[in-house]
This record gives sequence, structure tokens and C-alpha cells, in this order.
Amino acid sequence: MSANLRFDQIRLPPECETLRQDVRAFIAQEVAAGTFDPNQAAHGDLHSAGLSRRVGARGWIGMTWPKKYGGHERSFLERYVVTEEFRAANAPVRLHFVADRQSGPILLKYAPEHIKADILPRICRGEACFAIGMSEPGSGSDLFAAKTRATRTNGGWLINGSKIWTSNAHVADYMLGLFRTSPATKENRRHGLTQFLVDMKTPGIRVNPIYQMTGQHDFNEVVFEDAFMPDDHALGEIDSAWKQATSELAYERSGPERFLETFYVLLELVRALGPKPDLRSAEGLGRLVAQLHTLRRMSVSVNGMLQAGQEPVVEGSIVKDLGTVWEQKLPARVRELAAFLEPEATNRTTLEEQIAFATMIAPKLTIQGGTTEVLRGIIARGLGLR
Ligand SMILES: Cc1cc2nc3c(=O)[nH]c(=O)nc-3n(C[C@H](O)[C@H](O)[C@H](O)COP(=O)(O)OP(=O)(O)OC[C@H]3O[C@@H](n4cnc5c(N)ncnc54)[C@H](O)[C@@H]3O)c2cc1C
Repeated sequence: MSANLRFDQIRLPPECETLRQDVRAFIAQEVAAGTFDPNQAAHGDLHSAGLSRRVGARGWIGMTWPKKYGGHERSFLERYVVTEEFRAANAPVRLHFVADRQSGPILLKYAPEHIKADILPRICRGEACFAIGMSEPGSGSDLFAAKTRATRTNGGWLINGSKIWTSNAHVADYMLGLFRTSPATKENRRHGLTQFLVDMKTPGIRVNPIYQMTGQHDFNEVVFEDAFMPDDHALGEIDSAWKQATSELAYERSGPERFLETFYVLLELVRALGPKPDLRSAEGLGRLVAQLHTLRRMSVSVNGMLQAGQEPVVEGSIVKDLGTVWEQKLPARVRELAAFLEPEATNRTTLEEQIAFATMIAPKLTIQGGTTEVLRGIIARGLGLR
């Protein structure tokens, strides 16, 4: 087995506890002011411009980025706490979340200086929303089959083709898109793709909604017809985006959002069972909490490794795989444990609504951010098994 696989024994440092209390107080204030209801996963908004701005004003976006770009030079573990608290409270933070998690770090590494100086501070203020333009109708898990073309023109590139399942595209200011600038080569089938910063207001871009089974509008098809991208919007080395796109995935896969998306059903179950659950329920609950605790330790570890400048791609994939399978099974497990609740349990209706909603979103959890099978392939390769 490969010695490359490791989960360092990392604990959240004491400053994270103070921060956690600050974030909780902020969330309580927002809930009291009616910005969102943590118990209404099914009916709540996914985006809130006001909330994103207020989170930015508190210094909780771009937390790990340099101060000169509006960042706060805090640690990945502090960022972890903020993400965890907002996710656990079901807060509608999607307007800034993708930019904070992965688009900003890519711009920091690969964008020219004037673009960093313009866009990164806006992300930190909660004013710039990003989408990820990787998947296409014929290219999902196999990113390197992407066909949407960028062809050379005067002063830049013309984009033609389409992206699909693009979360946020209908509200995004920018997309980081992966486009074909050259054919793949015989030696390297991953060659030939370049990552671009796409201004979503560019003429020639059309966004068509795709609705979720729940009726929510979350992702989209994005069609490009001769959309012009200036030269300075090509990020990094032309034709070599595979190096950038895969390092982005370590950020995308390892956070607490990868096992907390259905967490509200567990909280609701705890409320329903009350302080003295029967033995069977207590045992079931205990198992779920122990599993959650283990996932969290692993996820904290990966984030600690990111903090140390490592790229824990395999470890991040393990967290994503175990985490999404766990959160996907959670609604059914909670339904079983709730089966013997007294009909008059005070929050029974809320619990049932929450379970129904979580069951409807569960299928997507092991697909978004990389499917279970693909992640297991990456893990197997990392362990030297294939
Ligand atoms: C809610 C949601 C949000 C999303 N948001 C975005 C977004 O913002 N931007 C974006 O670019 N994409 C997004 N996606 C798309 C997502 O990344 C893709 O759906 C995913 O990568 C799978 O691709 P696919 O749907 O083409 O399925 P395919 O790749 O065709 O896979 C179909 C099946 O084959 C299996 N499979 C494929 N390849 C292998 C292999 N090598 N080994 C073993 N099994 C394999 C898969 O596991 C899966 O079960 C989102 C998806 C969802 C569900």
C-alpha cells in the first residue's frame, strides 16, 4: 500500500472556538432578523445577496487569501469552522461559496495581477458570484473529453459549445470554464484544454434553467455562440489546464459541506427524540453521531494539510466518497429511527417534511463534485492499486 496516504492528527486550534462563537452569534442574529430559517431546507432560498455581503463584511470570505486582495490571511482551519457553521445552519450562502472555496484560489494562482486586484476584493466583500464550467453533455466524469472550443481570434478567443449542470450560472457574475484550445495528443489525452475566466455578461452566452426534482432552480445549461474572451482571461498555461482543474478538486471535495448537506434531518431527529430516547433510538443515534465525528476528523485533517501547503487529492477524495455516501443514506436511517416516535411528537410534521426533502435531494449527493465510482478509481490509483 502506498505511503502517500495520510491523515495527519490535526485538531482545531483554540482560536477556532472563539471564532465559532462569533459565527453562531451572527447566524442567530440573521435568523432572528428573518434572513433565513435553518429548519426550512425545503422552502428556503439558496442565495441571499444581503447575507453574502454581511458575511463578507465580517471578514469570513477569502479568509485565507492575502490582505492585499481583500483577504484576511487566516488559516484553512478557521475557514473550516465558518463553513461548518453556515452549512450546519442551512444558511443560503451559495452566492459567494463557490468563489470562496475554489474559484478565488485558482485566480490567486493563475490570473494576471490586474484581474486579481479587481475581482478578488469583490469576492471577499460577497459581491461576486462564480460558477464552475467543467461538465458538458458528453463529458462529465471524463473532463478531458470536453469539446466546447476556444478558437483564436484578434486579441482573444471565441467560445462555441455548451456546458451543463452548471450550478449558479443563472446568478453568477463569472464562470471558470474549461475549453478546448487544441486537440488531445497521442501521448497525452489530457492535453489541449485551457481554463478561462468568463464574464457571464459577455454577448453570445445563453443560460437555460434545469430544474431539480424538488422544483428548485440550482443548475443550468450554458450555451456559447461566438462568445469573445480577451487574451488576459486565459488562466495559466494554454493547453495545460488539466493540472489546474485537478488541483481545484482538492478544495472542492474535502470540506464539511461534503457530509452536512442533509444534516438537518439528524438535528430534527434529536429534537423529536428528546432528552430521554429509548434504547434502540439512542443506539442508532449514537452510531450516526460517531460516524459523523469520524468524517469530521478526517475532513479537518485534510484541511490542516491544505493549510500546510500540501495537495491531499486522495485524502480529499476519501472524505468526499465516505461523506456523500453517509449524507445520502442519512434520511433513510433517520426515517427508520423516527418510525417509533409518538404521533404527538411536537415536531413530527417538520421532521417528515425534512426527511421527504432530504430524500429527494439525496441522489445528487454522490454525483456532484465527482461520482462515487470515479472517486474510488482515484483512491485506488493513489494507493497504487491500479
Ligand atoms: C447537483 C449537481 C451540481 C453540479 N454542479 C456542477 C457545476 O457547477 N459545474 C460542473 O461543471 N458540473 C456540475 N455537476 C456535474 C457533475 O460534476 C457531473 O454530473 C459528474 O461529474 C458526472 O458526470 P456525468 O453526469 O456526465 O456522468 P458520467 O460521467 O456519464 O457517469 C455516469 C455513470 O458512469 C460512472 N462512471 C463514469 N466514468 C467512470 C469510470 N472511469 N469508472 C467507473 N465508473 C465510471 C459514473 O460513476 C456514473 O455512475 C453537477 C452535478 C450535480 C448532480
